[in-house]
Amino acid sequence: MPPIDTPASHDPPGLMEREHVAWLTLGFTSLLTFVLWAFSQDHLAARAEERFNYRAEKELSILISRLEAYEQVLLGGAALFAASTSVSREEWRAYIERLQLRSVLPGIQGTGFAKVVSARERIAHEQSMRADGFGDYAIHPPGERDPYTTIIYLEPFSGRNLRAFGYDMYAEPVRREAMDRARDTAALALSGRVTLVQETETDVQPGFLMYVPVYDKTGPIDDVASRRLRIAGYVYSPFRAHDLMRAIFGESNRDIEIELFDQSVGADNLLFASHDATRAARHGRDLPLIFGGPLWIARFRSSVEFESLTSSQEPMLILLGGLTLDMLLFLVMLGGIRHRRRMQAAAAQIAESRDRFQTLVENVPGSVFRTEPVPPWKALHVSRGIENLTGAPPERFLSGQVGCRSFIHPDDARQVLTAVTQAVAEHDTYNVEYRVRAVDGQVRWASERGRATYDAMGQPQWIDGVIVDITDRKIAELAIRDLAFYDPLTGLPNRRLLLDRLHKQLAVSSRSRLYGALLFIDLDKFKAVNDTLGHQTGDQLLTEVAHRLRSMVREGDTVARLGGDEFVVMLEDLGASADEAASVAMGIGTKLIDNLARPYHLGQHTVPCTPSMGLTTFCGQELSADELIRRADEAMYRAKAAGRNRLHVFQPAQR
Ligand code: GH3
Ligand code: MG
Repeated sequence: MPPIDTPASHDPPGLMEREHVAWLTLGFTSLLTFVLWAFSQDHLAARAEERFNYRAEKELSILISRLEAYEQVLLGGAALFAASTSVSREEWRAYIERLQLRSVLPGIQGTGFAKVVSARERIAHEQSMRADGFGDYAIHPPGERDPYTTIIYLEPFSGRNLRAFGYDMYAEPVRREAMDRARDTAALALSGRVTLVQETETDVQPGFLMYVPVYDKTGPIDDVASRRLRIAGYVYSPFRAHDLMRAIFGESNRDIEIELFDQSVGADNLLFASHDATRAARHGRDLPLIFGGPLWIARFRSSVEFESLTSSQEPMLILLGGLTLDMLLFLVMLGGIRHRRRMQAAAAQIAESRDRFQTLVENVPGSVFRTEPVPPWKALHVSRGIENLTGAPPERFLSGQVGCRSFIHPDDARQVLTAVTQAVAEHDTYNVEYRVRAVDGQVRWASERGRATYDAMGQPQWIDGVIVDITDRKIAELAIRDLAFYDPLTGLPNRRLLLDRLHKQLAVSSRSRLYGALLFIDLDKFKAVNDTLGHQTGDQLLTEVAHRLRSMVREGDTVARLGGDEFVVMLEDLGASADEAASVAMGIGTKLIDNLARPYHLGQHTVPCTPSMGLTTFCGQELSADELIRRADEAMYRAKAAGRNRLHVFQPAQR
């Protein structure tokens, strides 16, 4: 029997067979997913921040360039004064109208000129203005100051702007500071946060002003002193912060929110807020704006639109997709591990049942085998029991050293091969008994039963079977047969076997038409031997008679003992006619009588004994075996009656 593999379940489980590996993998891949998610979040946030910064800086540059455009307007106004000896109201209006500020630079509240009027000139100035058609003109606010400045031109000269006509901006500290700065630097100056005089009670907005100084042309203005001496007025623009900023940023700007502070961040300094700033924005940046003097701080905040535009589903998709994949991988691994474990358990179970099966097979009396289904019947499997039968171990069969059927007795081999081949061809089970010549020369009896297994095409694959040693049974069977058919004392066939053989011989002779003969022999006065020398000596005499009879006839002739001192000899093939057969038989019978009549040396006794013999011939089946024996017996009776120690031939007429 081939060696059996060690069951896999006895091995320590491999790395891929442990459940915690799946859990570890899940942990690792989830961690990786979170890292990717965080990285993607950061990346997105960085990109959004970058974009926000770009947008903030762009908005700031728009604001600055707009302020520079206003500066150009004021510088243009100042240039008008520089180029003329005097600028009339109409000229100012024409200049401003020509600029088409409402459409080109919306957001500007007005563009005007504030004239510097010394306390000394004030009365004459007011009178001159009134004379020009402004009957209730007066510099305001009232009070004694020196100098005054008064807004004499302001375009568009209508609506809110009319309130500023004659207003002395220099009287107000915030404006005054900017005006002084403009005057001293001979450059544009921006005021701090003010409330414009144009404001009414409704929609009050913070405001600021932009000044460009205008000097008289009496001399150079190279230094502060000369500039202070020659200051003649200011070209200026008042700005309402909200209107200005809305005009600059308009409705298109939805992604960024702006707050503009004067000097520092604080509610009091707020110039403008594009949105309600209470919402916590994701991005924020304060940028300084230095233009025309004071520091402004532009605070930019990301709008809801910006935040929704720059936020992406990508990190969430990475997280959810990643975790889903992690979970799938985990489930696949776990499933695989559990499946492998089940397979191993099944393999262990199979190995165990194979062990049990093998034990079973090895304990089956005889040998279980599997061979190829065709000669030379190569052994595929042979159990240990074969050694008891043949003396050769299974390994020799499996290695092919010994042929599977090489131990079958030559006399039985043909019968076995025929039976097996026929059963295989007919998809049937075969059952054969045969003699086995073992390695040591001993002959044993075997019974073999087997059946082939076939593939889907009906081709035999192999033969499975079992061989059992039936030697003991065979011996018992032979003993029983001997008892039934042979005489235990002499070993000769008994009456039953004689009748059987005679019956068969009758059939044979009916075909061959050759005659045979029966010689019925009864010893004369045998009882006396028993009586005088004992039963045992009688037995010896009977055995000797049997021996003499057997030695005097041919191999094919039958010598039987019917019982007591009665023997029958059946002679075959004596001739083609009754007479010839009778004559040959009589010759043999006479010789037999002569031989049997010779004294018997039994131990120390020499015993004389003669036979009486009846003879009858036969051919064909006209008469039964019983009838023939009866006839021979009858002829023998006649020999007795005629004086014993003689032969008598049966005569039908005697009946
Ligand atoms: P006859 O000449 O008329 O045949 O006289 P006989 O004494 O031979 O008489 P018979 O043939 O009738 O008797 C046969 C005797 O054989 C009877 C029996 O005691 C004896 N006998 C039968 N079977 C056996 C046996 O197995 N062994 C021995 N020793 N004697 C037997
Ligand atoms: Mg007798």
